[in-house]
Amino acid sequence: MSAASAISPPTAFDPSQLGECGAWAANQPLADMTWLRAGGAAQWFVRVPDEAALSVLLSALPASVPLLVLGAGSNLLVRDGGVPGVVLRLGRGFQTMEDLPDHRFAVGAAVLDKALARHAMQAGVAGLEFLGGIPGTLGGALAMNAGAHGTETAEIVREVEAYDRSGARHVLRREALQFGYRQCGAAAGMVFTKATVAGGGGGAPGNPPRLGGQGGGPPPPPPPPGGAPGRPGGCPPPRPACGRAHRRQHI
Ligand SMILES: Cc1cc2nc3c(=O)[nH]c(=O)nc-3n(C[C@H](O)[C@H](O)[C@H](O)COP(=O)(O)OP(=O)(O)OC[C@H]3O[C@@H](n4cnc5c(N)ncnc54)[C@H](O)[C@@H]3O)c2cc1C
Repeated sequence: MSAASAISPPTAFDPSQLGECGAWAANQPLADMTWLRAGGAAQWFVRVPDEAALSVLLSALPASVPLLVLGAGSNLLVRDGGVPGVVLRLGRGFQTMEDLPDHRFAVGAAVLDKALARHAMQAGVAGLEFLGGIPGTLGGALAMNAGAHGTETAEIVREVEAYDRSGARHVLRREALQFGYRQCGAAAGMVFTKATVAGGGGGAPGNPPRLGGQGGGPPPPPPPPGGAPGRPGGCPPPRPACGRAHRRQHI
């Protein structure tokens, strides 16, 4: 893998003129933010703290500047030449989890899937166990319609809050999201910020969830730079068996 070459920031775009919308970095290396630990830099990277900042950013960012939302980076392969435009990561304001009646939860898009699975288990809500083995965020699970063990995200989603490229907020019912196999028809240009998800009764509080992975244990952490022990070159361990292969996105 060749070293990433720095990208010159576009002259037409100056983040300091967008208003208060987060901490910016130019030519931010992305390798350490993805599972494969490979690839180049983001031309611009911003961690957006909350919804107000996201709205400011999206309404001020020129439509001509490409925008990519980065979740946990478990389904992304970044090209060595880097990513043009803005790579955005949702910050702490998107890590909320609220219990609702009828076995439902309102969950921020930056919450890790395994944290949601664990929370549901502790609340005695069944049906979200499959998320326990998926090493991404809820936002990534929505965009990819992530699934395992015969259950997929589309089955637990009731509605999703999202912002479009103009900064307008939308509340999308599940039907509007056009979920397909490992894809979501509404994902292009939308930044998912929160979802209401639902399980069913009958969960057993205190019992471990049916975590994904061939061994049934928790997902392994990303390999360290330079290679995981016993796995030269940083190759991740085998994925959980899900019936069909995942299509990793090349960016
Ligand atoms: C070891 C391993 C095991 C895996 N097992 C499974 C499995 O069992 N089942 C399965 O389905 N997948 C699996 N995957 C693939 C991956 O974990 C899922 O696709 C996961 O849902 C990606 O989430 P993420 O947060 O990492 O998204 P990322 O990889 O960061 O991004 C993936 C896509 O989602 C978009 N995205 C992320 N957040 C948002 C947001 N808030 N709003 C809009 N778009 C967003 C990104 O722009 C990108 O297009 C596995 C991957 C690994 C490495």
